[in-house]
Amino acid sequence: MDERLRALLFPRARCLACDEPREIDAGADLCDGCLAELDALRLTGGLCSHCLSPLRAGQACAYCAGGGMLGLDAAYAPYRYHGASQRLIAGLKFRRLRRAALPLAEAMADSLHGAGFDLTVPVPLHADDLRDRGFNQSALLCGHLQRLLGLPTEGALIKAKRTHQQSSLSHEEREDNVSNAYVAVRPLYGKKVLLVDDVRTTGSTARACARELRRAGAVSVCLLTAAVAARYSSAPQSSSSSLPPA
Ligand SMILES: [Zn+2]
Ligand SMILES: [Zn+2]
Repeated sequence: MDERLRALLFPRARCLACDEPREIDAGADLCDGCLAELDALRLTGGLCSHCLSPLRAGQACAYCAGGGMLGLDAAYAPYRYHGASQRLIAGLKFRRLRRAALPLAEAMADSLHGAGFDLTVPVPLHADDLRDRGFNQSALLCGHLQRLLGLPTEGALIKAKRTHQQSSLSHEEREDNVSNAYVAVRPLYGKKVLLVDDVRTTGSTARACARELRRAGAVSVCLLTAAVAARYSSAPQSSSSSLPPA
């Protein structure tokens, strides 16, 4: 078949996760390879039910024991942060592929298993970072979740202090880096809040946000992310390895 005719009949869409120009259905966002990889990255079995960290048989969860869930009632996420999920999230944040938010939000909505909340609150970006990126990926995810779950979203937090890239810091430095960076700007008396972020690495951002949400009156704060970086899950107090910026 003539290449031009072929291109007309079978337009090539780029997979949002691997960026390979493939002949995927015009309406499909991901290639079969990345879909299969995402499926294999689903967080199921052998996990702490509270924080979704991998558990060693017969042992208590080191992440929870080390204060990883301080201020948080539960954590939900569809994927381990690796391979296709990491590429999809990087596409959203760094290649600014807004369309990547939809498949992530769909998987996030499924991971909630019907748990009840009053509203979602996106982890905010600092105004300078928001201007650079053009959008807040967590707010995009909240917008899709509102449509998928009928759950209202409220920008109840702002990031008042610009922080260093978390990935370059030790655990103690991360906690210092984000403490007081987030400020609640709306009252949340009696509300069950679902805090939304793209990925949980050490969880220091979520803990800082949860503290502020509770200060604003929230009665419960749960965390929903698209992925959890398992390498941080077992040792929240000694995490200085490198990951792409979160
Ligand atoms: Zn792909
Ligand atoms: Zn745990």
